[in-house]
Amino acid sequence: MYTKNPALYIHIPFCVSKCTYCDFFSIKNNFIPDEYVNALKKELKYKISYYKIDKFYSVYFGGGTPSLLNKTQIEDLLKNILPYTNENTEINFECNCDDINEDFLFFLKTVGINRVSVGVQTFNKKSLTCIKRRASQEQTLKAVKILSNFYSKYHDEFKISLDFISGLPFSTEKTIIEDLKIAVENKFPHISLYALTLEEKTPLYKDIEEDKIFYDESLASEQWIMGRDFLLNNGYQEYEISNFAFSGYESLHNSFYWKEKDYLGIGSGAVETIFAPDGKSGIRKTNTMNIEKYIETSPFNQAEIENLNFKTVYLEYLMTGFRTSKGVNSNDFYNRFGIKLEDVIKDKFKKYVNLSKAKIENNNFYFLPDGMLFLNQFLVDIF
Ligand code: SF4
Repeated sequence: MYTKNPALYIHIPFCVSKCTYCDFFSIKNNFIPDEYVNALKKELKYKISYYKIDKFYSVYFGGGTPSLLNKTQIEDLLKNILPYTNENTEINFECNCDDINEDFLFFLKTVGINRVSVGVQTFNKKSLTCIKRRASQEQTLKAVKILSNFYSKYHDEFKISLDFISGLPFSTEKTIIEDLKIAVENKFPHISLYALTLEEKTPLYKDIEEDKIFYDESLASEQWIMGRDFLLNNGYQEYEISNFAFSGYESLHNSFYWKEKDYLGIGSGAVETIFAPDGKSGIRKTNTMNIEKYIETSPFNQAEIENLNFKTVYLEYLMTGFRTSKGVNSNDFYNRFGIKLEDVIKDKFKKYVNLSKAKIENNNFYFLPDGMLFLNQFLVDIF
């Protein structure tokens, strides 16, 4: 299968320390080995030529901790990427608060990065200590101040997004509003707000299981609702269930995923999905999570391959589509899959329309902000 204009995801699976709630694939290390960057470049070059890439729709450095890459490594990677972008390509770089300083932000801007997403999670000291975030409360607040100053100077050419989590240990409805207030007062144009999901195998899960930490799961959703309402009342639009932005500041990269478009994944543990030209089936590859093997064998690392059949692709399309505020357009769905949306969702959507939790307008089937809370139930019903 070929793809000319996919999104590009680059995975940097290294973190100085592990946060206790995190189950993302990353290993503990203080720096990114040059060998890893060389392996990334090999895979990138190989795939650009194999897929006959013309331009990347968007580029996303995620992790792990991309801000652990040193300047030479970042420049080196971008040298191989920028020829396949243009001035409109969103190039996002995930940063840890600990790594933020004016010089680093300026460097990122100079070398072609035009958006950073920063993992704040919370400013609450007790929560930060409990989940073992690398940045202290002081460093997190300092980072946000630097980001705010930087944004006020360069807002025409540089975008900033902050990530928060509701329902962390020691977090309350009061602290979540205090957290978001800082982001809102600084007018950051994009905020992601996730409710904590307790993942088995994480140290936090174990501590809660062993009653070392008090935790009430229902608080995560209650706090999330408070946070969501606060953001909606302050001019942000919930364009996806966990993502809030001022109009025009939505993440292009993530929105591309949610429309079930092609994306390449580069790096150990990275996932890539390429759809057939008719969009009805696809192939998903997950690169090996053995970093040493990845380095040794790049660009031919042992990827796990999954064939996505027709049903999987259209169900994923519905799953991601309904999470967005625009929902799913029945004409787009018919044009791509040749089946009627109404036949798939039957009367299960109507139920929410009757409860004023969802709407059908100009062939768009979408959940209203309050209806988003029923989304999981709806998806379970149609699956
Ligand atoms: S910094 Fe991010 S990727 Fe690394 S352990 Fe913490 S949450 Fe996970």
